[in-house]
Amino acid sequence: MTTSPEAPLRAALDHALDYLRSLDSAPVGATKSLADLRAALAKPLAETGVDPVQVIDDLVADTAGGLAGSVGGRFFGWVIGGSLPVALAADWLTATWDQNAGAYATSPAAAVAEDVAGTWLKELLGLPATASFAVTTGSQTAHVIGLAAARNFVLGAEGWDVEQRGLFGAPPIHLFTTGLRHITVDRAIRYLGFGLDSLQPLPVDETWRVTAATLDDALTTAPAGPKIVILQAGELSTGTFDSFSELIDIAHQHHAWVHIDGAFGLWAAASPRYRHLMTGAERADSWVTDGHKWLNVPYDCGFALVAHPDAHRNAIGYSASYLPSGTEMRDPKDWNIEMSRRARGFAPYAAIRQLGRAGVAALVDDCCRHASDLVLGIGDLPTVETLYAPTINQGLVRFLDPKPGATDADHDCRTDAVIAAIVASGEALFGGTTWQGKRAMRVSVSNWRTTDEDIDRTIAAVQKALGTA
Ligand SMILES: *Cc1c(COP(=O)(O)O)cnc(C)c1O
Repeated sequence: MTTSPEAPLRAALDHALDYLRSLDSAPVGATKSLADLRAALAKPLAETGVDPVQVIDDLVADTAGGLAGSVGGRFFGWVIGGSLPVALAADWLTATWDQNAGAYATSPAAAVAEDVAGTWLKELLGLPATASFAVTTGSQTAHVIGLAAARNFVLGAEGWDVEQRGLFGAPPIHLFTTGLRHITVDRAIRYLGFGLDSLQPLPVDETWRVTAATLDDALTTAPAGPKIVILQAGELSTGTFDSFSELIDIAHQHHAWVHIDGAFGLWAAASPRYRHLMTGAERADSWVTDGHKWLNVPYDCGFALVAHPDAHRNAIGYSASYLPSGTEMRDPKDWNIEMSRRARGFAPYAAIRQLGRAGVAALVDDCCRHASDLVLGIGDLPTVETLYAPTINQGLVRFLDPKPGATDADHDCRTDAVIAAIVASGEALFGGTTWQGKRAMRVSVSNWRTTDEDIDRTIAAVQKALGTA
């Protein structure tokens, strides 16, 4: 094969730019069926190879219609951010440089860029400068890191070295959180060997939050021993924040570790307008957040932050004779779960550097304003019930069946049918959920690319779907 090594790269750049240019006109959701995608992609394993440019051209042709348009401005499903061009560019370089960012020794520049990105992140989010951190694949792995540090710390306080002795025979750990927690919390609890039975669900009040009295009561009546409280900055469907000041005081009075899930909500702290929602959160013991959601860094990028670096390092770090380490530099291997790993720090470094404090605040504020405009605009249409008007960037609406005597089950069907009609139109994408026993449409805005026109165009698409569903 005589193709130049640059040829597939040039082809990819052209395809990438074409893709980004197509966002305004292409359908937002995937349009191809599973069978179509299999038929296109499942080629027989070639005996002899294929020209690399052909491979890239085919990859683009064969995935077309099967990609979610989450990079574009009218994708409001789940909580999925887009990617800032600067972060995408840094990500291209990350792949080009192909660093193993596992240790300082294997990529000094990756280690330092990551160190700086983490320092900026703590400044932006108002977290203690002394907190340790890891740049992770997302909040799922960040939960594992934060809760592993918690496990080390709360058992250490009981005189039990969990890293050496394991969990068998250890004092049982009691975890407290609400039923509105994200499912990744449960998985982290399983991975770490706590067992789901160690989790005591806390009831919430009518604003979906744990009250001080509830937490105090739960901690007071729990058996003596190590405790972990998991709070939320940004509940999945409503974006609700727990009352950190009160709850963290109570938890600490009971010597419990406080872990905050702020996959997207932690970013509220970067905006003077929304910062009040995070008051007191800086006194928690560990936090998780994502770069790939609200910071608009390409997948995958998240952060675990820990107020007790020794517990973090003891739980996660390692040393090996063939990997020199020093005390002067921050070494990713002391804080991250992986050994070999992508240099995930370059993309958030680039995003934060371009935006600065004001730019990150504007990104947060714009998403919140767009979420509010979207929910209010949709809520004004006939037969729409607003279930939750956004406090930040998340809201919920429901579509009512207009027929006389319609039941909740009819409204549920209608809601799913309207969501499907919007998605089928290709104009916008939303997901459904069951909220407090009712089917609802989630409205989530986390993309830098969303404009006022996108919001108007989406409201028009919803109006049209109400007529066709
Ligand atoms: C998305 C999300 C997570 C999981 O984050 P990943 O980056 O997907 O691992 C955890 N908690 C909340 C509240 C989330 O929105």
